[in-house]
Amino acid sequence: MRKAIGIDLGGTFIKAALVDQEGAILYKEEAPTLAERGPDDILLRIEQMIRDIAAKHALQISDLSGLGIAIPGFIDDATGVADEVVNIGWRNVAVREPLHARLGIHVAMENDANAAALGEAWAGAGRGRRFALCVTLGTGVGGGVVIDGKVLRGANTMAGEIGHMVMVPGGAPCNCGHHGCLETISSATGVVRLAREGLARAQAAGESSALAAVQDLTAAAVFAAAEAGDVLANAVVDEAIETLAWGLGTAANVVNPEVIVVGGGMSRAGERLFAPLREAFPRYALRRVALAATIVPATLGNDAGVVGAARLAL
Ligand SMILES: [Zn+2]
Repeated sequence: MRKAIGIDLGGTFIKAALVDQEGAILYKEEAPTLAERGPDDILLRIEQMIRDIAAKHALQISDLSGLGIAIPGFIDDATGVADEVVNIGWRNVAVREPLHARLGIHVAMENDANAAALGEAWAGAGRGRRFALCVTLGTGVGGGVVIDGKVLRGANTMAGEIGHMVMVPGGAPCNCGHHGCLETISSATGVVRLAREGLARAQAAGESSALAAVQDLTAAAVFAAAEAGDVLANAVVDEAIETLAWGLGTAANVVNPEVIVVGGGMSRAGERLFAPLREAFPRYALRRVALAATIVPATLGNDAGVVGAARLAL
């Protein structure tokens, strides 16, 4: 059976996995990114991780179908260069050529959201479906469109950026430079922002909320307060979900997916997220689009990136 190694380069950890052609993870490990040491050091450690994994499995590097790398930023696939990776401070870093030169195997690269979408569509919640729309609700809102097993990349690898659909013109500032993007509302960061703003309004109006007593205000804490019946927390969660349904409904009208896979830390909220999302989605998607699309939780969790990266090389 063919095997490849998938690498998911993150701001904190580099994850690596040996994945077979069916999408099963045979082995995985991770190492700190140590971004401050610079790109050469990171690429050297990725090389070492690959040699280490091959040795542990009595494989020659040449036995591998290749290596796929998920990169948390903008890439240029034509040149194999990471153009801009803000959270590890990379600008114009050649990735494919140095790794290919050192290891002698095929090296593929992809943006991390697209790699995670590919992983879920191939071997996770979208397995067996031809048209998948995938979103990740984390610090931001990542997105990817997978059609017949291939990520839709677009003209310069920017396709599927659902998180940056502007939902509120002139709304809260987004990291992308625009205002009111979906991720300013429906990400974990967006939920915390809405909760803080709501709390300030409630306190000014003399209203109480359980959120006022929360030391470390996280999206999980807001969902927990909502489950416990807090009015403000429920209003925040409802706004985040309604806006997400709007964004997904709009994207679904373009893509006409069979499956919409929702992952990321916030998807762990379970039915408090999925039940109202499924209920609201048909208000924004065309009737036939809504009938075709099933909204499901992601199943690969943090492994989606390495699995999708490996898929690129298989
Ligand atoms: Zn944005």
